[in-house]
Amino acid sequence: MTLFVKKDFRPFAVQATPAFSGEYDVVVAGLGSGGAFAAARAAELGLKALGVERMDLPGGQTTLGCVCVTAERRERNLQDLRKRLAGCECAYETSVIGAWVEGRRIVGLRLLSNGNVRDVKAKVVVDATGDASVSRMAGCDVVVGRATDHAQGATSKAAIYRLPDGRTRMGYGFYREGTACGAEEYSRNILSYAARDFRASRSRVVAVKATIIGAREEGHVVCEDTYSLRDALCGRKVPDPIFSDYAPFDLVRIDGDWAWENEDTIDWKDVAGLTNFAFFAEMPYGAIVAKGVEGLLEAGKHYGVAHDAGGGLRMQRHMRALGEAAAAAASLSIRRGCRLRDVPYAELRKLIGAAAFRKWDGGPLNVIHRGERMEPFDDAAVARALSREYVHAGDWVTPSPRGPGEEMAWAYATCWMKYLRASPDRAATADFLAARTNGEWGGHFAVALGLMRDARAVAPLVRFAKTASSFFDRLKALAVLRRFRSEEALALFRAVAHDGAAAFSANEADERGYGFAHATRQWKRFQFLSYALFGLKEAGEDMGKWLAACPDALRCGARDGADLAPMLKGICRPNPAPSFPASCGAGRKIV
Ligand SMILES: Cc1cc2nc3c(=O)[nH]c(=O)nc-3n(C[C@H](O)[C@H](O)[C@H](O)COP(=O)(O)OP(=O)(O)OC[C@H]3O[C@@H](n4cnc5c(N)ncnc54)[C@H](O)[C@@H]3O)c2cc1C
Repeated sequence: MTLFVKKDFRPFAVQATPAFSGEYDVVVAGLGSGGAFAAARAAELGLKALGVERMDLPGGQTTLGCVCVTAERRERNLQDLRKRLAGCECAYETSVIGAWVEGRRIVGLRLLSNGNVRDVKAKVVVDATGDASVSRMAGCDVVVGRATDHAQGATSKAAIYRLPDGRTRMGYGFYREGTACGAEEYSRNILSYAARDFRASRSRVVAVKATIIGAREEGHVVCEDTYSLRDALCGRKVPDPIFSDYAPFDLVRIDGDWAWENEDTIDWKDVAGLTNFAFFAEMPYGAIVAKGVEGLLEAGKHYGVAHDAGGGLRMQRHMRALGEAAAAAASLSIRRGCRLRDVPYAELRKLIGAAAFRKWDGGPLNVIHRGERMEPFDDAAVARALSREYVHAGDWVTPSPRGPGEEMAWAYATCWMKYLRASPDRAATADFLAARTNGEWGGHFAVALGLMRDARAVAPLVRFAKTASSFFDRLKALAVLRRFRSEEALALFRAVAHDGAAAFSANEADERGYGFAHATRQWKRFQFLSYALFGLKEAGEDMGKWLAACPDALRCGARDGADLAPMLKGICRPNPAPSFPASCGAGRKIV
């Protein structure tokens, strides 16, 4: 039996003799949204359970991180969790500092409390630390952030404020978008934003201060199954769901740029513009079963979802579902003497209960806030929606009535979905679109055709990119063209990159500002360049010369005085090195 601690995010074996002072069916590490429900449910199921929390309260982000809209709601949340945990042994102000591993099985944890170290044995360990701490110690692989550079967006709340009228509201201590965030930069960005939030709060007093730095995203443990946005878009049916729900697409846009993200994210955000929409997901049981380490379940935002889907599938209700499913699985595995991955699903489902499953009305996407399903458009409706000037769908937190922006986004989504789901009528729709790419709104039809990955879109898209008056139309054209390695597209990308998109954006007439402070001309050039440079890189061009050509003109350009040139230079480098360990394991795969 070996004790592993976490050192530089990796497991590190230390010489130690176990001194076990307790033996439990389940030990839950971390009592945040996932862990509190895992520990409470385990106790309810009659298991001898221990919940370990390094802070003095349960709730994690929702209480200590001030991710609650008001102080009153935070208090209610806290009281509710305390009540639920009443039947479970909880150790507060106690940190998990090591994992006891025997062969490929985690068999216990080392805890530190008030300067005292003790070891506890566990038949099943639930990692609910939210950042995969225990799984890292136990030697699981962990994949961090987006594939291009392993960056994650930094997001946090700083405080809940009391307003002059006595009401309380959480602050906007949200995020400062940082370049390829490493742990240190992540904290620095968040703290600098929090400081600004505090400075800006002259008319408010702090009612509750966040005592932990928030993180909506963490590395994801490689589990028996991984759920991705592509799974959701393709309507993947899983045989063993542990919860189902509509979820918003809610990744943080790092440095105002989606171009670094994967194809589906780009198509969702920049091309289809599905700002107002949520996707439907059925989470497979395998997404909480750690791969390669026996006896370990994941019940926090670090579970087995891909970076793109994790942006939405990390809400408190999802964490609760993970925690309760983990407790049920632990109970079955202990009682039946089977491995976690072999737990019989029919019995697991009974223990999970119906509340975890949101009714699916058959639509792949719905409109957030109105919870309304969009009926798939027929070709004529697609044509109507696309035959108008580009309208942005609007801010997704605004429950606007269905407007032309939403219809346009849905028209794009209809075509995209037909391609992704290989609908029988996709060829007919592609022909319908192709026949309209030369007409008045031909550019919009070309974008839709490009979403279907039909090469007939290339020539009209190149035209559209050069002539569209709307910035977003141009950006859509560039983003879609990146998928086609055609000479025409490459010639356009070279022209854009040649002078830092100066000529390309000179006649771009969209001055509407888009409601974002960063929609400056500098930022728009930066966006154009990002797509063009990625297009060239993916086509295998020698990026050295483009690196030299990267414009210093974009320094201190866009937002909050952010220097955007490093992002562009990052694209040109052969392999942007992760500043944060992308993956770690006991000497295993490093991504
Ligand atoms: C800025 C922001 C806004 C958000 N907005 C919303 C929203 O509007 N709606 C919504 O539903 N969700 C929202 N969320 C998401 C949600 O709050 C989190 O995803 C969720 O709380 C994560 O739960 P968790 O259990 O994985 O992690 P956490 O809540 O972080 O809990 C992990 C717990 O583990 C403890 N821990 C960690 N390591 C150790 C250790 N070694 N030993 C002992 N204890 C340990 C921590 O102290 C913590 O209490 C938001 C999150 C953020 C950051």
